Amino acid sequence: MTRGKKRRVVLLGSTGSIGVSTLKVAKNLRNEIEIVGLAACSNVAKLAEQALATGVQNVAIYDKSKEKELRALLPPSVKIHTGAEGLNALSELSEADVVLVAIVGTAGLQPALTAIEAGKDLAVASKEILVMAGEIITAKASEKGVRILPVDSEHNAIFQCLEGHRGPDREISRLILTASGGPFRETPAEDLWNVTLEMALKHPTWDMGPKITIDSATLFNKGLEMIEARWLFGIGMDRIEAIIHPQSIVHSMVEFIDGSVLAQLSRADMGFPIQYALTYPARLGGGLKPLDFTELSKLEFSPPRLEDFPALGLAREAGLTGGTLPAVFNAANEVAVENFRSGNIKFPHIWECVRHAMNDAVKTETPTLEQILEADKSARVSAGSFCRNPA
Ligand code: MG
Repeated sequence: MTRGKKRRVVLLGSTGSIGVSTLKVAKNLRNEIEIVGLAACSNVAKLAEQALATGVQNVAIYDKSKEKELRALLPPSVKIHTGAEGLNALSELSEADVVLVAIVGTAGLQPALTAIEAGKDLAVASKEILVMAGEIITAKASEKGVRILPVDSEHNAIFQCLEGHRGPDREISRLILTASGGPFRETPAEDLWNVTLEMALKHPTWDMGPKITIDSATLFNKGLEMIEARWLFGIGMDRIEAIIHPQSIVHSMVEFIDGSVLAQLSRADMGFPIQYALTYPARLGGGLKPLDFTELSKLEFSPPRLEDFPALGLAREAGLTGGTLPAVFNAANEVAVENFRSGNIKFPHIWECVRHAMNDAVKTETPTLEQILEADKSARVSAGSFCRNPA
């Protein structure tokens, strides 16, 4: 970023875990980052509090029924946008340089495209964007000459490792995504049937929302990230791997054909990747605490248990097949997680549900956005019927 010029950020999904961390980063770098728009799904009180603290003049609330309640909490000068149109309006806000999308689910897809279309850089935290529509999004971004900045810690790590690399892609042999392995890393396969919601919500290293925490326990989170990496870095699915690293200190690695490996390390704090995405290509002192190597007892690595945690195999299959299958993979997992949370299915059923929906799906190559959303819908129906009668 140019010195002396603030980067103006629209934040979609401001009341969630990534949103809150982003506002913290912006506060620590108030001379470099300016928040110009905030959007939330339905948490009116928190959104209003954030709007007053940042002084934004544009906010969006996805749940239209909450508009009145929000209006009462904000000064009349603040413009309130609502619904899906509201998210789009914020995405093309003329004063914004970058749009950070951190909305859970498919609602972030259209706003991401709108931002690119409007010539904004896109900071991606929502996995659905690249998993469902990676081909469309990356093609549109290169057509418009805008950047896609990864906010997820793994992709941000790879992005940083590739920063010094000026050679062609064929010099990269593998991208290695690290995974904490979640709370059941060492749980025997047969005991996975006894996993309760409470157990699945206890992540050993990261503090995140419930959906992503369960995805970390099943390894679906890593599967989604493998597919995202395929699009973000233009590397074939066969060259993207995952490795278990319980300490969550090495956030991911790039192996080059000469055998050298570059890794990015930091404490497990989302402030690091968020800050780098928003200040890229500059590095700024934002008050984040560096690693203290004298306090690190060990860094461990082990291969994932592919048989017991089938999510990675399913992800590879979805990523290799491409087309609408990654959208099916994503949607079926979302439905399965909801059903696990409401006690309708057991933990290992989450994998079986996704397998079922993928087998059930009609595969479409190079789909349009409409076909992707259609595949998403059908996958939800298919996954829903599995969950009503899990085998
Ligand atoms: Mg991650």
